[in-house]
Amino acid sequence: MKINKAWHLAHPMPKNPTMDERIAWHIEHLKNCACRELTPKLKAEFRKRKISMKDLRRNASYERIELT
Ligand SMILES: [Zn+2]
Repeated sequence: MKINKAWHLAHPMPKNPTMDERIAWHIEHLKNCACRELTPKLKAEFRKRKISMKDLRRNASYERIELT
């Protein structure tokens, strides 16, 4: 899997992130990089917040994103 290193350097995960911060980070991450999968807990959290994986994938600048 490819890592978008430039994006990661510019967007470090906050220390002791709240769930909102994690969600926001992962949304941006999904659009820019495909180096890691969402954990089941985060996927559940996305569902709870009605954040559509399909939309994220469609808008992703990264084409090789694989979400299940
Ligand atoms: Zn990444």
